[in-house]
Amino acid sequence: MDESPQATITVEFTVGIGDGHFNASATVPAGQTNLTQILPVLQSLDSSFIDGVAAQYADAGLHVSCKAGCGACCRQMVPLSIFEAEALAGWIRTLPEPHQQELARRFDQSLRKLASAGLIDRMVTEDWLAETESARKLALDYLYQRVPCPFLEDESCSIHPIRPLICREYLVTSPPEHCADPAKLGVEPVRMPLNFSRVLVRMGAEVEHDRRGWIPLLFLFAWMESGARPGEAVAGEGPQVLYEFVKRLSLAETPEAKK
Ligand code: SF4
Repeated sequence: MDESPQATITVEFTVGIGDGHFNASATVPAGQTNLTQILPVLQSLDSSFIDGVAAQYADAGLHVSCKAGCGACCRQMVPLSIFEAEALAGWIRTLPEPHQQELARRFDQSLRKLASAGLIDRMVTEDWLAETESARKLALDYLYQRVPCPFLEDESCSIHPIRPLICREYLVTSPPEHCADPAKLGVEPVRMPLNFSRVLVRMGAEVEHDRRGWIPLLFLFAWMESGARPGEAVAGEGPQVLYEFVKRLSLAETPEAKK
């Protein structure tokens, strides 16, 4: 078996944002890969873009208040693109059995709490990402159940390096404690002029033929049982797979930051 490292290639690209640009470079496999496999590249690009946006806010005197040890926003529902679900599922399968069982227990416990509050059916049928009154109400009903994300440990994200894009993109400049009750206390989200997470969701919907392209993060263990491999539907040589993402990023609208 050839165990030599896979050859890579560095690609430079520019995405227009209003009157400005996002200039970036990314190193991807030169050979065959797929969208799920290059997620670390997209995570790195998203994080550097977000850092740039946060720096612009700081220049304007607005400072991001999110910090380690504040998990207030980690009790919201997290829409997880199916590509990120595939990657997280793969990561979970590499964990020692006791760790997997502990995670499964936490997911189950959270789902039971939401089920007893009558939210599971609404979670399945509601279009969470639509800007509708019923979606907003469901988001609040979910938040008020105070169900922590199963990956939250000591109020910090235990999967921080591989956390979903939407978690990276949710930053606020308002006091952190406001995130516990945004409807009453109000939060000031950082507006992301490019929204990587939404592009992944849209690509998921393309792969699923107009289904949603994402799952609630809490459904991850159930989704894993399907054995789905959505990344394989967006496969090719590294630069081509990256191009498919960047092309859609360039064409995407720029919605308000929302987790
Ligand atoms: S994945 Fe991490 S950052 Fe995202 S909600 Fe869960 S604990 Fe919070």
